[in-house]
Amino acid sequence: MSNEIHNRLYKVRQRIAAAAYRVGRNPEDITLIAVTKTVDTEAIWNIYKLGIRDVGENRVQEFRAKYAKVPAALRWHFIGHLQRNKVKHLVGRIFLLHSLDRMSLAEEISRRAMKQQAVVRSLVQVNVSGETTKSGLAPDEVPSFCKEVAGLPGLQVEGLMTIAPYGPSEQARPVFRELKELARKVDDEAGVTMRYLSMGMSNDFEVAVEEGANILRIGTAIFGPRKSKEGL
Ligand SMILES: *Cc1c(COP(=O)(O)O)cnc(C)c1O
Repeated sequence: MSNEIHNRLYKVRQRIAAAAYRVGRNPEDITLIAVTKTVDTEAIWNIYKLGIRDVGENRVQEFRAKYAKVPAALRWHFIGHLQRNKVKHLVGRIFLLHSLDRMSLAEEISRRAMKQQAVVRSLVQVNVSGETTKSGLAPDEVPSFCKEVAGLPGLQVEGLMTIAPYGPSEQARPVFRELKELARKVDDEAGVTMRYLSMGMSNDFEVAVEEGANILRIGTAIFGPRKSKEGL
């Protein structure tokens, strides 16, 4: 099992590097998050030993179950839809929230973070493709949202995240391109520095690298197919 993970991770890293070189980028500027939803803690230890330092979960309950059982040096990314009543479980424990998608959530995060004298670094989730099944703000709402959130003391917006529609990877290209363009607009018009672009999953990460992603969220290409479809 761990040998399979080793081989898959090796290939994923090679493909990331090749995609980066194709467009003149340094692969070291790209953070690979291993998405560990439905994956047991033993497999998380395995990837840690293979050099992975960033892991992502999309459910608070699962995050809480694993958090204390894996190396403390891991940086946790929360990538799923977040309910306000669960914010308290994440503040002070995650490196980055990828799924900030509404003001009521931003306010609750800020309030909780203030209490703990913490700052929650966050990415705004954008629904570029407009699929009704997906969370995220519409692109035209993003600049003003970022500006408003920048005024909250307990939260820092550092970039954008999107999920491309499932399908052939080339279909994701215009989606990724639009997210990058939007980040530039937020930088220019809202004056909020966009440091991170979180885009690209198992199905489309090479295209994401070519289009400027500096955070990739990859599950199945590292761990193999998930037994359940939970959370996606
Ligand atoms: C599950 C998930 C991923 C990883 O998906 P794979 O196709 O397994 O690589 C990435 N981002 C989010 C938000 C997810 O929920």
